[in-house]
Amino acid sequence: MKSKIILTAFLSISLMSCAQETPKVKHKKSSISSKSNTKKVKFANAEDPICHMKTEDDMKDTTVYKNKTYGFCSSYCKDEFKKNPEKYVQK
Ligand SMILES: [Zn+2]
Repeated sequence: MKSKIILTAFLSISLMSCAQETPKVKHKKSSISSKSNTKKVKFANAEDPICHMKTEDDMKDTTVYKNKTYGFCSSYCKDEFKKNPEKYVQK
C-alpha cells in the first residue's frame, strides 16, 4: 500500500516537474519595431489636397479646419480648400 502511495506521489511530482518544463510563453520580440517615423508630421494632410503636392515640402500657406492644420503650396490651393473643405478632407 505504502509503495503505491509513494509511487503516485512520485508520479505526480514528476508530472509537475514535467509541466514546469513546458516552454513558457515567450514574448515575441518586436524585431520589426514601429516604423521609424522620425519626420514630424506638421500637417493633417500628407499632401496638398488640391494639387497633391506633398505638404512636407515648403508650404506657402496653411489653414486650420476642424482643429487640424492643413498645409498648402499656395493661397490659391488654400482658397480652393476653403471653398469646400468636406470635399477634400478624407474621413
Ligand atoms: Zn497646391
